Amino acid sequence: MLSTHTDMQMKDATSSALILVVDDEELIRMFVREALEQAGFEVCEASNGSQAMEQCISRRPDLIVMDVVMPVMDGFSACSKLRESAEGARVPILIMTALDDADSIARAYEHGATDFIAKPMHAAILGHRVRYMLRGSITLNALLRSEARLGLAQRIAKIGNWEWHPPTDRFTASPELCRLMGIRLQEFGGTKGAFLKMVHEEDRDRVDHALKSILEERKPCDIDHRIILPNGGEFAVNIQAEAVFDDQLKSLTIVGTAKDISERKRSEREIHRLAYYDSLTGLPNRVLFKDRVTQALAHARRYQTTLAVLFLDLDRFKVINDTLGHNVGDLLLKQVADRLADSVRHSDSIGRSVEQGETHELARLGGDEFTVLLTNIRDAQDAGTVARRILEALARPFLIDGHEISVTASVGSAIFPTDGDSVDLLLKSSDIAMYHAKDQGRNNFQFYSKTMNALAAERLEMENDLRKALERHEFIVYYQPQVEIRTNRIVGAEALVRWLHPHRGMLLPAEFLPVAIETGMIQKLDQEVLFVACRQNKAWQDAGCTPIRVSVNVSNSFFHGALLTSAIARALEETQLDPECLELELTESITMRHVETSITMLQELRAMGVRLSIDDFGTGYSSLSHLQRFPLNILKIDQSFVLGVTRNAANASITRAIISLAHSMNLSVLAEGVETEEQLELLRQQECDQVQGYIFGRPMPEEEFVELLARTSSPPRNRRAA
Ligand code: C2E
Ligand code: MG
Ligand code: MG
Repeated sequence: MLSTHTDMQMKDATSSALILVVDDEELIRMFVREALEQAGFEVCEASNGSQAMEQCISRRPDLIVMDVVMPVMDGFSACSKLRESAEGARVPILIMTALDDADSIARAYEHGATDFIAKPMHAAILGHRVRYMLRGSITLNALLRSEARLGLAQRIAKIGNWEWHPPTDRFTASPELCRLMGIRLQEFGGTKGAFLKMVHEEDRDRVDHALKSILEERKPCDIDHRIILPNGGEFAVNIQAEAVFDDQLKSLTIVGTAKDISERKRSEREIHRLAYYDSLTGLPNRVLFKDRVTQALAHARRYQTTLAVLFLDLDRFKVINDTLGHNVGDLLLKQVADRLADSVRHSDSIGRSVEQGETHELARLGGDEFTVLLTNIRDAQDAGTVARRILEALARPFLIDGHEISVTASVGSAIFPTDGDSVDLLLKSSDIAMYHAKDQGRNNFQFYSKTMNALAAERLEMENDLRKALERHEFIVYYQPQVEIRTNRIVGAEALVRWLHPHRGMLLPAEFLPVAIETGMIQKLDQEVLFVACRQNKAWQDAGCTPIRVSVNVSNSFFHGALLTSAIARALEETQLDPECLELELTESITMRHVETSITMLQELRAMGVRLSIDDFGTGYSSLSHLQRFPLNILKIDQSFVLGVTRNAANASITRAIISLAHSMNLSVLAEGVETEEQLELLRQQECDQVQGYIFGRPMPEEEFVELLARTSSPPRNRRAA
């Protein structure tokens, strides 16, 4: 079917063909025209070679029938000229010669003639001959076109092809393959050896072996390897080949393609990088780290060596991230990674480790968590040495975006085989040890121990219990009176949270706040205390007590989180408490970071009518002058200063200085932790405004506090009378 179809196409193409007849004798031209028109062709004429050239350019004939002997330009020269021109290069040329003129026939071929026909000619034969030549020409042109297209397609696809004939060792490479290999077709040696020479040294044996396997096992091959370019560069190719039996050669030929896959290799490398490396620091990620530990464990088991996993977590990184922003946090992590890499690398050159084969692998697990794998160490002390070096390396402050940031880290270590014999166990043990380091006051290093495991379990339990506690309303609020020194009257109460744990009884904030802060539950907890305290204060007023303010502690997360202002507005709205009767105790750190947003926030709160105080003043690093920009009402001097105020002259002068400076800034001062009469007396002399401490009452349940308040408040009737 298909061939008939193309035959028909070809017939169409040949019958409408235009034939140029070139002869100086008009009679012959007439004869040839007659014969060709009879056969269905169109005809144009020329009487010599140079006319033929002109006709060829203007009429573009599909075939030329030409005489040899002509004036002006003979048939041979015309043939040569035509072949040199763009228009005549591929036109089939049929030369008319005398039958016995063998010389002319040979010369005609030399000059580019396609075929010859002897005179005298038979009209019908001429027609057939021309049609036959036209068909050949169409087929040839189609072949040339398809070859050109194939070449183009190969160039676009960066694919080349080749053949190797083992018995003769002839290796032919397509122009595109040569182009890929960066050589010219003529430069290619033409043997398998010549090809292998261009293959990367390390891949050569593999490629050679693959070629042999095709021959011996008739297995098609599909391999990737590298090609070395003449300029020294290299790129990756994929070779696919199989053996083909060549009927003519009566032997096997290996036919193959070679495709440039450098792009794919690049993508593969990129995917590998994304899957196994941390994009921020470029360090191996958790997946790759675990993989390396698994390998190291297999090795350690086999050769009975010791290895350690160090688990490092930056102290209070969350605070830095929350207050200075994620950009600064990211930059800090990058610099930390660099310092870690440096310190871990250095331990190689310092110790005896190199010849012992001790190696270090650093990874970032995520967030501010880093791990180090130490292999071939002598004992746990070696891990301690590296951990200490790491802590030292982090001790210098970091300079980021104009901020000088000091960070410390807590490091835990777990040793194989004593602390775990699997990746997961070692990671878990070192993590637990790291938490223990945090509990020990951070910025230190701890080995894993079994008791720690128990502590970790306890911590986890605490976390779960805390979650339930919020739902079950196990938190209660205690109140501690705040007294005005001048009048000796209760002017406020600090709301302090307590946890009525179902099994452990009443817990103080110190026992559960750290976990609440770390898990972020503190925001909900603060909000809960805020509502309870507002409701309670309103109830006291409704019961007829003199209005006092209630102060609520606001954690950094609650302050910087999104809930604060709306929670306060809602609490005031729901309880109908006068905003003046609500005070927020903030920590000093909000005055040090994110200064501008903090000020805006405080102004917003002040505009709502709420009072603001700075808690535990003196324990942070903010200076009083710094505080000037903040719209505050009260400064609470930390109890550590009050504790020594009567014993220690330095403390006494500190409190005096704080009080007078605060007054110059129109701030009231409250001293915390006042326990004795002497302390109270001294503070009175220093003109401190208010005090809070055991001397006037410990934090107490609401029922007790309201009693105290009622006792010290003036009776409602008197007040009305007054
Ligand atoms: P704080 O805000 O500085 O509260 C004062 C702490 O000092 C209270 O400890 C209180 O019991 C104790 N204290 C009061 N007078 C004296 C005294 O005369 N001598 C001594 N030695 N101590 C005294 P508490 O209730 O254990 O609370 C500890 C800290 O927990 C609080 O310190 C506060 O920072 C935090 N906290 C308490 N409740 C909350 C809360 O609801 N939310 C938040 N975010 N933090 C809270
Ligand atoms: Mg407080
Ligand atoms: Mg305080």
